[in-house]
This record gives sequence, C-alpha cells and structure tokens, in this order.
Amino acid sequence: MKIFHFLQPFSYKQVPEFTRDNFRLYFENSDKVMIILVIIQWFVATFVTSMMYDTYIYGFVSGGVLTLALFIAYKYLAGTPSMRALVAIVMMLFSLVYIQQHLGRIEMHFHIFIAMAILSLYKDTLPIIIAAITTIAHHLIFNYLQYYEVSLFEMPVMIFNYGCGFDIVLFHAIFVIAEMFVLAYIVQRQVQHSIELHKTENELVGVNEKLRYSSMYDSLTGLANRQNLYDKLQYITANSNRHKNKFALLFLDLDNFKSINDTLGHHIGDALLKVIAIRLKSVLRENDLVARIGGDEFIVILSDIKNEESILEGIEKILSIFKKEIIVKGKILKSSTSIGCALYPDDSKDINELMKYADMAMYSAKAHETNNFKFFTKSLDDNLHNEVNLVEDMHRALNEREFKLYYQAKVDVNTKKIVGAEALIRWEHTTKGLIFPNTFIPLAEHSAFILDIGKFVLCEGAKFIKKLELFGFDDINISLNISTLQAKDIQLYDHLKHAIETNNIQAKNLSIEITESVMVENSLFASDLLHKVRALGVSIHLDDFGTGYSSLQYLQKFPIDAIKIDKSFIDEIKKDNEKNLILLNTILIMGESLGLKTIAEGVEEQYQLDYLQKKKCDFYQGYLKSKAIPEAAFIELLKKQM
Ligand code: C2E
Ligand code: CA
Ligand code: CA
Repeated sequence: MKIFHFLQPFSYKQVPEFTRDNFRLYFENSDKVMIILVIIQWFVATFVTSMMYDTYIYGFVSGGVLTLALFIAYKYLAGTPSMRALVAIVMMLFSLVYIQQHLGRIEMHFHIFIAMAILSLYKDTLPIIIAAITTIAHHLIFNYLQYYEVSLFEMPVMIFNYGCGFDIVLFHAIFVIAEMFVLAYIVQRQVQHSIELHKTENELVGVNEKLRYSSMYDSLTGLANRQNLYDKLQYITANSNRHKNKFALLFLDLDNFKSINDTLGHHIGDALLKVIAIRLKSVLRENDLVARIGGDEFIVILSDIKNEESILEGIEKILSIFKKEIIVKGKILKSSTSIGCALYPDDSKDINELMKYADMAMYSAKAHETNNFKFFTKSLDDNLHNEVNLVEDMHRALNEREFKLYYQAKVDVNTKKIVGAEALIRWEHTTKGLIFPNTFIPLAEHSAFILDIGKFVLCEGAKFIKKLELFGFDDINISLNISTLQAKDIQLYDHLKHAIETNNIQAKNLSIEITESVMVENSLFASDLLHKVRALGVSIHLDDFGTGYSSLQYLQKFPIDAIKIDKSFIDEIKKDNEKNLILLNTILIMGESLGLKTIAEGVEEQYQLDYLQKKKCDFYQGYLKSKAIPEAAFIELLKKQM
C-alpha cells in the first residue's frame, strides 16, 4: 500500500549510486554508537537497579550476554540490515530485563519509547519496525508465561503488576505502534534530506573538479597548460635534485602553423594541433611530460636522462611524427617543427632560465631549416646579448645617420641598359665597419623600430630620385624594400604620398618591393592598401618570388607589376646544363601570361644572363653588372652608359 510506503526499510544499496558510500559509512558508524548505548543500558540495568533491589546480578548477567552478542555480531555484520535488526532487538530486550528486575513496575517500561527514538539515529525504518515487533512479541510471550506462572530471575513473570488489565496492554501497544509510524516518517525525511545534501555536495565537487581541470589543462588538446607545467616542474626539479639525475626541456614550435591557420582556417589549425598533441603523447614515455604553452608552442620534458643519446632518441621520436602526413578534415597537411633543447641542471638550475634557453635554441634551430633541433649552448646566449646590444645601438645609429642606402643596378636584359636600382640599406658603423642588413633588419622587424627604418629609407630613396633627376636621369626607377609590418601599416600610403609631394618627384620612378607574407596575413586589408598605393603611380614588385606560397590567386587579386625571381632559381642555371629549370621556366611563362614584368635576382655569370635572355626575362640584378654601391658610385655608373 502506498501510504505505508515510507515504512520500507533502507540499505545503502537502495540509495543512488553517488551517495552509497556515504550511507555505508554512516550505517557502520551508527552501529558503533549503538554498541556504546547498549553498554550504557547494561550499566543502568546492573548498577542503578542495584540501589533498590538485590536482583542486579541478573541484570549484570543477562545484560552482559546481550552486549557480548552485539559485539560479536558487529565483527561480522557491521553496517548491514541484520546488524541493525539485532541492535533493535537487544535494545528492546533490555526493557524486559528492567521490568522483570523491578517486579513488573510499569514505569520501568517507559524507556522503550526512548530506546525506539534512539534507533531513529540509524536513518533506517527497519530497526524501528523490528523494535515495535519485538515489544509486541515480548508482551504476548510474557502474557502467556504469566498465565502459566512461570518465574524468571527467581521471580514470577508479571506483566504490569499494578493490577492493570488488558486495556493498559492495549494502550501500550498502540503507543508503540504510533511511535513506530512517527519515527518511520521522520527517518524517511532524514534519508531524503541526506540524499539531496549529498547530491548538491556531489555537484559542487563536480564543478570544482571541472574548474580545477580547466585551470590545469589546455582545453583544445587536453595537454597540461603553462601553469600546470610550472607546478610539475617544481616537483620534477626537486626529484632530480634528490636523485641526482638530469632532465631535458624541449621547446617545440611549429614552423608553418601561421600559414596553415591563415590559408585553411582556424578550425583546420585547431584540428592539426589536436592530432599533434595525440601523436606527441603516443611517442613519449609514461613519465615524460608534454604541455602546450601557447598557440603552436609545446614543451616536452624528457625525464631521467642518462646521456646525450637518450635525448637524441626522444627528439628523433618527436621529429618522426611530423614525417608522416597528417590528414585533417580530408586535407593532407605537412607540418614540421623546430626544437630547442636545454638540460637540467647542466644549462641552468632555474626553470625560467631553462625555458628561455630552450626557446633560444629553438629560434636558432628555426633559422636553419625545418624539422630541425638545436641544443642550447653558451654562445647562443652570447649572441642574444650581442643582439640586444645591437638593437639598442640601432636607435642611436638612426639618429646619428649611420644608415645609408646603397644602390644595385637593375638592368634591361635585352638592351643591357641600367633602367633603375634597388635601394639596399647599409649600416656604416663607426667602430664595427660596414654591417649588412641581414644582421639587423630581422632584429628591427621584431619591434616597431622597423617602421622608423622604413620611414628613413622612404625619405632617402625619394631624395635620391630627385637628385638623379637633377643629374638629368629622370627615367631611373628606384625600388625600396618594404618589410611586412610596414606594408600592413595604414600610414604607408601617407608616407609615400608625402615623400613624392615634398620632393616633387615622379611617382613612376618609385617602386616598392613586398613579399608574399604581406598578402597571406590579413589579405583584404593589404589588397586595399596596395591598390591605393598603386593609384599614386608607384609600382609594386613581389620580392623573393618562388620561395613562399607563390599562389596564383594572390597574383591575380593583388595589384602587382613585377615579380622578382629569387636568386635560388638563378643559381640553378649552371654552365652547359639547362636541366632542372622547369620551375624557373614556369615562373617566366607565368609572368608573361599574366602581363607581369620579370626581374631576375643574383645574376653572377654571363651564361645565366644568356639563358634569361633566351627565356624572355625582362630585367636582371646581380654582381655580373654591379653590387650595391653608394649613391655617388651609382651615379658614376649611370654616367658611363650615356
Ligand atoms: P633582397 O631584397 O632579396 O635583396 C637582395 C640581396 O641579394 C641583397 O643583399 C643584395 O646585395 C644581394 N645580391 C644582389 N645581387 C647578388 C649577386 O649577384 N650575388 C649574391 N650572392 N648576392 C646578391 P643585402 O643587401 O644584404 O640585403 C639582404 C636583404 O635585406 C634584402 O634581400 C632585403 O630583404 C633586406 N633589406 C635590404 N635593404 C632593406 C631596406 O631598406 N628595408 C628593408 N625592410 N629590408 C631591406
Ligand atoms: Ca628586395
Ligand atoms: Ca629578393
């Protein structure tokens, strides 16, 4: 029946899974509390009674037997429903002991109401029901014993000796049953409340767990994040100090991640990172550590390193995962990484420094070729210091006008006449002598300082165009190298316009050289800006063509006038060997068909020029004609050809 549903007893197996352990523990603990209460009852049955009657010895013996029985049961049945049933029976049997010792005095029976209430501590209806049944059973049995005048503890069995009759027994029974219902209801509520409480607690634990997870792990790849890495490194360094062993910290940076992200979209980039994370984990040993600390930057800790071979082994394994092609969303991707390695404690005992060293080694690796690695060495650190000094020195040099533009002739392949020049910057350092751009331009490009250099080049270049005009050369085109940062700077247009107007030069005599990276990153903006620049009358040349993405799409979308074919293609033109020139030929044909001028860079030999002429290349630059030379020397060169 539904209304008696709440009388249903509980066991931890009935409650929801998440709180079972709590209930099991609770039942076991309650068993212990009950045993203590039973011992107290035993004490009462024995000693308190002894003050009034000399029958306490019966209390002592029978109470002792009951208590001992519970002790033994606890050993085998702790936490089970049987144990609870047994506790209920024992509690009620004490009532029998009391009343019998007190010659059937009815008030000695009142304690059963307290005992039943105590049983509600269990949060289970079973002991309460059992207690009620025990009480009723003992009345029935004792009535029977009284009827046959049986004696117990050397006294006749008496149920209520105050001359009370069946009506009192009935009342008594009704109260016991009423108490049973009340307590069962209370217990039911308690159980439900406990379950709710545990549920909320559980949910909180879940939320905490999630928070902890997201603060420790990278959400994309599931690898440890930077914070987690630092935490673990504390432990790893302590461990390695204690056991006197070494570990290697590898700094990984993907080589082409940015272009994958820009050309194929972030979802492909993300998927690639996930695949790489999985592969990294799969090739490393269990006690090695992988963390993702930035966009495409990973740290790997190879622990317990015995010798250099074991590091190389680890690095080989990592490099091998990039050799297999990666298929992401149906696209085959080629990815590679550069790895820098620093050793604990050899290179440094400071974690931050170790990271810095591995990072430096990685940069040095990247500068060489893809899928490469480098160990940290002291000289790398020295180089860095030199670089820092150089960067500081550059600011001074710009103010003190130590930078100069040199000019390398651009020559018409057919007429062999100089038609223009490329301005190439030089640093005429007061103490160090002539410094070439490859040493300082990449450094300047790390900061906005390249914009200052760019402005300087623009000013000087425009002034030189005016100067040439004054010398009577009003048809010489000067091209200026524009770095990526500058080509993405909206001010480029204003600066060009300003330079043309203030020097009063013809815009057709000015060209800018940009590289393909300008178009790849933020191509819409770049395309707008370049269209505006071109509208000024300035021509746009695509530098180092063939080394980057070389996408036809860009060539069509962007306002390009000429492509500069990278020196590496020209180097392929060998004497008496015109093989392997498919790429060069294709570029030349492509240029012609798209209506773009072609300029060959780095022409050093006559046969190279002959070949280029045969293949209809338009212009060339190179040592064959002239190196980059100072202004005055270039003007002399022009004068000679008049
Ligand atoms: P780039 O624009 O590709 O310049 C061509 C480089 O090849 C120049 O080196 C030039 O001197 C060199 N070169 C020319 N002909 C030959 C040859 O026949 N044989 C050989 N072996 N080399 C030849 P440079 O002047 O050291 O410039 C290096 C790079 O520095 C340039 O590469 C350019 O990217 C950058 N750069 C130079 N000047 C500037 C500038 O004013 N602004 C910016 N942003 N970058 C510049
Ligand atoms: Ca150039
Ligand atoms: Ca070039």
